[in-house]
Amino acid sequence: MAKAQSIPALTKKAQEIFNRYIRHRDRLEPCISCGKFYDQYDAGHYVPVKGGSYLRFNEWNVHKECKRCNVFDQFHLVGYRKRLIDKIGADAVEWLETNRMQVKKWTREELNQIIKTYADRIKNDHTGNNSESERFYW
Ligand SMILES: [Zn+2]
Repeated sequence: MAKAQSIPALTKKAQEIFNRYIRHRDRLEPCISCGKFYDQYDAGHYVPVKGGSYLRFNEWNVHKECKRCNVFDQFHLVGYRKRLIDKIGADAVEWLETNRMQVKKWTREELNQIIKTYADRIKNDHTGNNSESERFYW
């Protein structure tokens, strides 16, 4: 890398790659909040990024969520929490809730590592139909 990127630029890039990985990981699953299939998905945070920057790249905290829920439904976390408990267990959900206000300042090195880790994971996952997930979700 020739020029060092700013922390905000790296954070944005890391979040994009991480979110893409989440949509890829959950590509065969319905929306975490409403349990339905829809044509447009985000990677939705359970603990919002604004509250606690510590959990913004946490795999327990981010799941595929339809745009209707993520963008337009102010009560989406009710369904999110229910299905999240089914998916990762009540202990993990409680851990997220306990740590929801934790703030973390991500370093350049950590952000670069996240970018590399999740880009590699997407690239090296040949278990599913990648072209299919790309067409619909990326
Ligand atoms: Zn939904």
